[in-house]
Amino acid sequence: MTAFVFNEVNFDNHEQVVFASEPKSGLRAIIAVHNTNLGPAMGGCRMWNYATEAEAVRDVLRLSRGMTYKNAVAGLPIGGGKSVIIGNPKTDKTPALFEALGEALERLGGRYVTAEDVGTSPADMANVASKTKYVAGLGDRGDPSPFTALGCFVGAQAAVKHHFKRDSFDGLTVALQGLGHVGYDYARRLHEAGAKLVVADIDQNSLKRAQEEFGATVVDVNAIYDVDADIYAPCALGATLNPDTMNRLKVKIVAGGANNQLATPEIGEVCRQKGILYAPDFVINAGGIIKVCYEYMNTPEDGMDAHVRRIGDTLSEVFARADAEGVPTSVIADRLAEERFKK
Ligand code: NAD
Repeated sequence: MTAFVFNEVNFDNHEQVVFASEPKSGLRAIIAVHNTNLGPAMGGCRMWNYATEAEAVRDVLRLSRGMTYKNAVAGLPIGGGKSVIIGNPKTDKTPALFEALGEALERLGGRYVTAEDVGTSPADMANVASKTKYVAGLGDRGDPSPFTALGCFVGAQAAVKHHFKRDSFDGLTVALQGLGHVGYDYARRLHEAGAKLVVADIDQNSLKRAQEEFGATVVDVNAIYDVDADIYAPCALGATLNPDTMNRLKVKIVAGGANNQLATPEIGEVCRQKGILYAPDFVINAGGIIKVCYEYMNTPEDGMDAHVRRIGDTLSEVFARADAEGVPTSVIADRLAEERFKK
């Protein structure tokens, strides 16, 4: 039999990988605790119709590792973990399924704290919470996305300062992809700071609102990469920095909230060679997890805004070190995380 955890390409000395099942509800879940050096592992629960178990294992290993890096670089007292439920989120959800997950988390005794993610909702998390207290971001204290947008904005400010040696967005053009929870709020901040916006979305209502509220110019979803802009702000999809778009983008800065922006790690070096300053995704989009962590840990929220704003300082450090060492910003961001979480 082929072992498929320890020799899986995304296995990275994960502390614990738990296969949880419960026959009555049909639960089949995998919980990956990547690293708890800084605190309990935190990361969302994804529900997805994985074609194979191996695919689910690969996803949970990759995502949980990513959470360790993201949480460490955000200066949070938490480690990284993730869980996946194998099933169709449209047809297979029941309260009992999420209650069974809650029981599985309870057995882990707080080593892993879950939250909503792709395919799961606040209602699902409420069912988990009926069996365990190890659930964060229950939504009772508000949506985290405005904090993600704030982090993107201060991150873009840091990038503008580093690249253009100035504090203002006046006269700069931002090509923004995705006017959803994060993108719309980020667009508002950019507009208020004096940037010109060129936007793309598949949702016509959001486009109309952005035209009316921000005077944004609308382009076709496929044309956003060709815009003559200073900044590209991906706020919709992953992997939009890929060989095709790298040949098209005319921007000097990439600063957006989307997860997994680099199609492959090598694209970080392509950005560097092309003189594009890339704000690493997991650094710039950590505002939401900062909010969720404060909420979960009952940390007084008066310091939260300042904590999110420190994303700008972290990025300034990443940019300066990348220049000094002649390596991609994505590599420096990984190193910064490792300096914080590796013992
Ligand atoms: P959302 O679903 O609210 O918004 C996504 C937007 O992108 C929608 O308006 C959608 O219509 C649009 N879109 C979809 N396909 C598109 C396409 N091909 N071209 C242009 N637009 C398209 O999601 P969100 O919460 O705003 O998150 C956006 C991104 O940021 C995601 O990658 C998410 O993983 C990431 N992220 C979000 C948070 C958060 O706090 N919400 C935190 C960290 C990372």
